[in-house]
Amino acid sequence: MKAVYPGSFDPITNGHLDIIKRSLKLSGSLTVAVLNNVSKNSLFTADERVEMIKASVADLPNVKVEKFSGLLVDFMKKENADVIIRGFRTVSDYEYELQIAHVNDHLNSDVETIFMVAKNSYSYISSSIVKEIAKFGGQISDFVPKEVERALNKKYK
Ligand code: ADP
Repeated sequence: MKAVYPGSFDPITNGHLDIIKRSLKLSGSLTVAVLNNVSKNSLFTADERVEMIKASVADLPNVKVEKFSGLLVDFMKKENADVIIRGFRTVSDYEYELQIAHVNDHLNSDVETIFMVAKNSYSYISSSIVKEIAKFGGQISDFVPKEVERALNKKYK
């Protein structure tokens, strides 16, 4: 299978990283697809997000990081990929994720979505919460890779 893990990754967290590592056990290689959506108000530019992910996965084999905009199914086609990896942490994630999975299935039923359940220890970590903590000077080192910690502290200095 050729797997793609799409998301905003604004910024990548240890929860995302855990999904990447566990997905690699299933597929052997993975493309992390960073959504470059102008209508979404992100803290980091798509290029900054890509660079942070690249630094965070530098020691992992067979992980590619790419930007994409527009429809995920079109990106999947371009990449010749057939499996979408998504993660979920809570019941509220489930509802949102289910909707997206159904839409993607409608748009291209050859593409399957596989869900990875968040590890308990990462289930309360989100990019938004990490940003909130960093904004008020809290400790984020347990939640994000080193380069993300540096970048967040710089942003909110
Ligand atoms: P999006 O804006 O597409 O939801 P995110 O970057 O927030 O992008 O998340 C990408 C994917 O990773 C989503 O499927 C989300 O549920 C999942 N995810 C986010 N945080 C975690 C975490 N701590 N553990 C497991 N999965 C997560």
